[in-house]
Amino acid sequence: MTANLLVTGGAGFIGSHYVRTLLGPDGPGGVAVTVLDKLTYAGNPANLDEVRGHPGFAFVQGDICDAALVDKLMQEHDQVVHFAAESHVDRSIDSGAAFVRTNAVGTHTLVDAALRHGIATFVHISTDEVYGSIDEGSWPETHPLAPNSPYSASKASSDLIALAYHRTHGLDVRVTRCSNNYGHHHFPEKVIPLFVTNLLDGAKVPLYGDGANVRDWLHIDDHVQGIELVRTKGRAGEVYNIGGGTELSNKELTRLLLDACGADWDSVEHVADRKGHDRRYSVDCAKIRALGYEPKKDFATGLAETVQWYRDHRDWWEPLKEQAAW
Ligand code: NAD
Repeated sequence: MTANLLVTGGAGFIGSHYVRTLLGPDGPGGVAVTVLDKLTYAGNPANLDEVRGHPGFAFVQGDICDAALVDKLMQEHDQVVHFAAESHVDRSIDSGAAFVRTNAVGTHTLVDAALRHGIATFVHISTDEVYGSIDEGSWPETHPLAPNSPYSASKASSDLIALAYHRTHGLDVRVTRCSNNYGHHHFPEKVIPLFVTNLLDGAKVPLYGDGANVRDWLHIDDHVQGIELVRTKGRAGEVYNIGGGTELSNKELTRLLLDACGADWDSVEHVADRKGHDRRYSVDCAKIRALGYEPKKDFATGLAETVQWYRDHRDWWEPLKEQAAW
């Protein structure tokens, strides 16, 4: 039997990787996918070129806040994987309105329609940033939410709305909270693709504050593996952390990127720290490991492959650089 998936935000970085994997040669089979994507600055139809001719693929350009459109689409599908979001912390510091609208109101529009139309499983993609900042140790899924940026606050709101539809109405909602993703097709406003594309152009890279903020890095393939485990083996009403297992300070990451691109510290511009910059994120992944999750991509290999992809795909990222510098 074919599962009919509605994938929101499927033209973005993670969503498009998920769709290409599901409909690609190593996909599970028996899956049809409709992508619903507004095509904001971060959405790129070219990210879906590989699957455009697949008989199980359809694309709808539209807004997850458009209740009439969402209502119609829910009738035609039985599962939802929800990636669509405003996703860049720095933009949320500049202005939070679009974040509250898409991330909170959009998620409500989706779960409300999902409930009305009997959606069997609703996977909501969230972030480790909802927990706040942690100096030592790792957060389990039960840790209270304490988001600090307008982005993470809007994502925490979306988690709570989605989980409320499970607790109140019994909708099968599953939430994933991942760490920092990296890989190809990543919009060049985020740190790794921003630094790589700047360095390949011989330009400087901006390092925030003292460079000591720590992030856990998760390869996009491992993230997709985790999401699929949650969709197929997870439980209703549960939250699952997904991490990659490579913790680096921004300074350490910068060193690796300079080396990979053949540049040195003269290419680094020290800039004022991001407002409210969380010091460290770290998720405890024991719960998803119990479903069989095991990150497979070694960071050095994943980073080298990513840098090589940007070297080979100037045609993909050069037209995006202007929008990235909003
Ligand atoms: P992205 O910015 O690359 O893509 C977001 C996609 O959503 C784009 O295609 C955009 O056009 C679409 N979109 C935005 N607003 C929309 C709307 N109102 N209606 C329909 N579509 C809309 O983001 P990403 O990095 O792929 O992130 C995907 C999800 O994963 C997000 O929910 C994000 O919060 C979460 N996440 C990402 C990371 C990361 O490292 N990239 C880490 C943790 C969590």
